[in-house]
Amino acid sequence: MSTATKTVEKSTNEKVIWGSDLHLHTSFWQQEVNRYRPSVWLLVKFAVLYTYFKGMTDLGGAYWPRIVQYCNEKNIDPADIALPGAMGLAFTFFAIYGYGFFGFINYYCDDWDFFKRIRIHKGDWAWVTDPREDGSGVYSDMFKAWLFNNSLYIPTFPLVKYVIGTSCPFRTDADSLPGYFELIWQVAFSVVCFDVVFYHIHRMLHHKDFYWIHRKHHSVTVVVGPVGAFYHPIDEWLEAITASLFGPLLLWDKMHIVSFQAWFVFAIWAALEIHCGYELPWNMYQALPFSVDARYHDFHHRYHHRGNYAAVFTIWDYIYGTNKEYYEWVRNGGPFEDFTDVPFDENNKVQQKKLN
Ligand SMILES: [Zn+2]
Ligand SMILES: [Zn+2]
Repeated sequence: MSTATKTVEKSTNEKVIWGSDLHLHTSFWQQEVNRYRPSVWLLVKFAVLYTYFKGMTDLGGAYWPRIVQYCNEKNIDPADIALPGAMGLAFTFFAIYGYGFFGFINYYCDDWDFFKRIRIHKGDWAWVTDPREDGSGVYSDMFKAWLFNNSLYIPTFPLVKYVIGTSCPFRTDADSLPGYFELIWQVAFSVVCFDVVFYHIHRMLHHKDFYWIHRKHHSVTVVVGPVGAFYHPIDEWLEAITASLFGPLLLWDKMHIVSFQAWFVFAIWAALEIHCGYELPWNMYQALPFSVDARYHDFHHRYHHRGNYAAVFTIWDYIYGTNKEYYEWVRNGGPFEDFTDVPFDENNKVQQKKLN
């Protein structure tokens, strides 16, 4: 084989499969070696990670005492507004980063060289192949589901107060605000708990008897940021809420609402970035060992039942061997032959046939 042919094959593979050669994870351990290859972007990732935790600690320390003071003046229990406030802020962040930032990138910057290089799929975005004529269906579907699912939280807040006797199980005082290290270990604990719960629930939802709950999330194969919250309501409660509240509820009043806020935004941010369709070089989670990247989760959306069930760390996939096919796929250099790059349910039907 001539050198010229080899070059053509290599560039075709990269163009079709990867779009860029930033990270070719040929094995679980190779992924970790690639992660810490010295580069400017690695420093950027660490800088974003540090800024995030420092920023959330300082911001919480600045705004929470003022809110408590305001509540005292108005004779309101700070616990009554703590949880809806923290969750409301996190969902607002989702709207700004998910629909605002990624929506803007998807619609207006997709042909920039930079975004072309880091884009994972080479196929059309879901709204291009959306059978509906106006082409806006995917984003509006996601937005409606997001609004509906978020509205379901509203009646749960008085219910929580009725059951546990307080509106917020976490500390809400202004005197014991968490420092930088307390906030970090509590977020780290919540991530580890999230990972255990999420992996097992998610894997269960891929069983043929439960997949109807999870199917909505997989109806978009060429994923975009807001798919991170595109769930059937039962799926939302099982995967997103149970998993993300598990750690904080174990900590109970050891956790301050400021730490909880930092954790909840951290979780939502991660969900957006693993679904965004680009390998973002500033993705702070990539500074953490064994973390899932957008390519890793993209494989899960391409093939549905062929592994990569983890959302934050790849460890549970490694323990159960459910990411073996992914690394094999990478080593073989491309999609399985029965895969068609169809962004809607056709691909699900193929996978459903395999299950039955
Ligand atoms: Zn899934
Ligand atoms: Zn997903």
